Amino acid sequence: MNATTPARSVPGYCLPHSHAAFLRANRSIPGGVNSPARAFGAVGGEPPFMARAEGQFLYDIDGHQYIDYIGSWGPMILGHGHQRVKRAIAEALETGTSFGAPTERESEIAEAVIEAVPSIEKVRFVSSGTEAAMSAVRVARGVTGRAKIIKMTGHYHGHVDSLLVQAGSAATTLGTPNSPGVTPGSVADTILVPFNDAKAVADVFAAYPGQVAAVLLEPVAGNMGLVPPRPGYLEALRKMTETDGAMLFFDEVMTGFRLALGGAQERFGIRPDVTCLGKIIGGGLPAAAYGASRGIMDFVSPAGPIYQAGTLSGNPLAMAAGLATLRELRDRSPYDRLEALSARLAEGLDRAAKDAGVPHVVQRVGSMLTLFFHDGPVENYEDAKRSDTKLFGRFFWEMLARGVYLPCSQFEAAFVSAAHTEADVDHTIEAASEALRASAGPP
Ligand SMILES: *Cc1c(COP(=O)(O)O)cnc(C)c1O
Repeated sequence: MNATTPARSVPGYCLPHSHAAFLRANRSIPGGVNSPARAFGAVGGEPPFMARAEGQFLYDIDGHQYIDYIGSWGPMILGHGHQRVKRAIAEALETGTSFGAPTERESEIAEAVIEAVPSIEKVRFVSSGTEAAMSAVRVARGVTGRAKIIKMTGHYHGHVDSLLVQAGSAATTLGTPNSPGVTPGSVADTILVPFNDAKAVADVFAAYPGQVAAVLLEPVAGNMGLVPPRPGYLEALRKMTETDGAMLFFDEVMTGFRLALGGAQERFGIRPDVTCLGKIIGGGLPAAAYGASRGIMDFVSPAGPIYQAGTLSGNPLAMAAGLATLRELRDRSPYDRLEALSARLAEGLDRAAKDAGVPHVVQRVGSMLTLFFHDGPVENYEDAKRSDTKLFGRFFWEMLARGVYLPCSQFEAAFVSAAHTEADVDHTIEAASEALRASAGPP
């Protein structure tokens, strides 16, 4: 395989400048990237390097334009370079980029978050989703005085030591570290269960009554491909946690402000005790947050004893970008339009895969979706892993060569933004028809 042009049926598509840039990057940066998924490890080949982005499009340094369905892995729900967001950043830039002191803008965005997200009465800003999840786990443990966390297999909460766990052999199991450098001790209190299996959670509560600090999950899973909760599942978790005195902890880093202004908790009508947010909340700059009721959040320092801090937390530029994004989402609610566009895309991809005779299922909630090359519904990580990832790799490159930038793994959700148009979606479906025919045959 030619590393720079893995698509087989689009001869004009090649990436010589990106190839040179990747070689150079590899000499000074591990794997040439600052976050692993960007290296395209799951699909083979080398990534195009980006020059700029505008609206729904990305432009690489080799002169290609792509319709972008990654949106920086979630944040860019308004599209790239949105005028209101750019203006807010420019205004903030004039007054200073970091003070290490409180600003009024932090209260403004905190109030916007509280207004939007049903379960949040107070919120603390941090700089990444990882940091938000890590801090909120500490809060759940600190407030309950309990140690154990129930986590769902295949859900991702950043690279927090205690949450980098993989399943052992049994269905309900103490996990083992899934990265060197994570000690068995640091995952000893993390219990893994399969997603969408309420009985597995009930079994853990029965085995460890009064010892579980929180049940942690992505209410709609996006980090194993898009997997919705089964009807009644979130309700069951809400009830079980209440009965036991454990916290229900929604990681809405991906779903927050995406599935509704108030995230999955608004869409499904379930109030978690603790929520973490990221991605959209920073409007494309580094910001994230965790929030809960006043009673819980007043345990956080300096109001309370649970320590958590950050030099760049509440950074003026990030707060400005985030606030402008949340205001735009509130003022011009794009959610109905996103729903319709995403449904059109999902139906088109389903039709294209059917026509190509490829075993598949398209799963979607709001503007998050995944075309799984798996015959039948995907309800948990075990199902997702049965997908034909080789076919996905070929399909991915055929799409890229046709100017469609999908997530570079079968186990990631695609995002539709408010900048996408029906024409973009129709172009994407047409490209998918060709790409599926090109990639479905023998390799
Ligand atoms: C992206 C993501 C994180 C991690 O956020 P970072 O900003 O990459 O640290 C945590 N949880 C979920 C659900 C995510 O999608």
